[in-house]
Amino acid sequence: MTKAALVLFSGGQDSTTCLAWALDRFERVETVGFDYGQRHRIELDCREGIIAGLKASYPNWAPRLGEDHTIDLSVLGRISESALTRDTAIEMQDSGLPSTFLPGRNIVFLTMAAALAYRRGLPHIIGGMCETDYSGYPDCRNETIRALETALNLGMGRQFVLDTPLMWIDKAATWRLAEALGGDRLVTMIRDETHTCYLGDRGQRHDWGYGCGTCPACALRATGYERYRLGQ
Ligand code: ZN
Repeated sequence: MTKAALVLFSGGQDSTTCLAWALDRFERVETVGFDYGQRHRIELDCREGIIAGLKASYPNWAPRLGEDHTIDLSVLGRISESALTRDTAIEMQDSGLPSTFLPGRNIVFLTMAAALAYRRGLPHIIGGMCETDYSGYPDCRNETIRALETALNLGMGRQFVLDTPLMWIDKAATWRLAEALGGDRLVTMIRDETHTCYLGDRGQRHDWGYGCGTCPACALRATGYERYRLGQ
């Protein structure tokens, strides 16, 4: 089978790094983004610009980049209570999880991605899940991903491989990985073009990119960038 992959590409730092990781390794790479009724669609709006930037800046990657898919999963936003889809505060809940947790999100994303990869003949599915310095979302844990890989292969009769290149590295190492893959140019592109902020704020520019600077996603990104710059 062709060395081909489908990357879950949201337009954020992690998924953009995963996309570069895939372009470095696979002959054909397709991308998929999910519209799940997120309060701030700015991340999705960044996707096209990032893809165009990668094509323009990396001539060796450009021919590998295939179709970009978007899937409407607005039903997920309608059935769940999350600060990502409802206008509620970002705070820690009694469950020990932040209110930004959207139950089932990665399970649904990976299942939909597998259904798409099945049709497109793409044996590898790549996601930016990470359990190193993360928000504690249980569907980002390696154990969940491995169980889902087994379930998808049993249920679809395929041998998909779910690759999670960021699983065991922290945010500083994610910036280092981007640098190793695409040099300073990729670091700059990720800093300026990707979006991570939970509040959808692109009005404020920081060393590490745009964002409110205070939400948990911005805090994680800022700390990681600072440690990367300091070589930690
Ligand atoms: Zn923010």
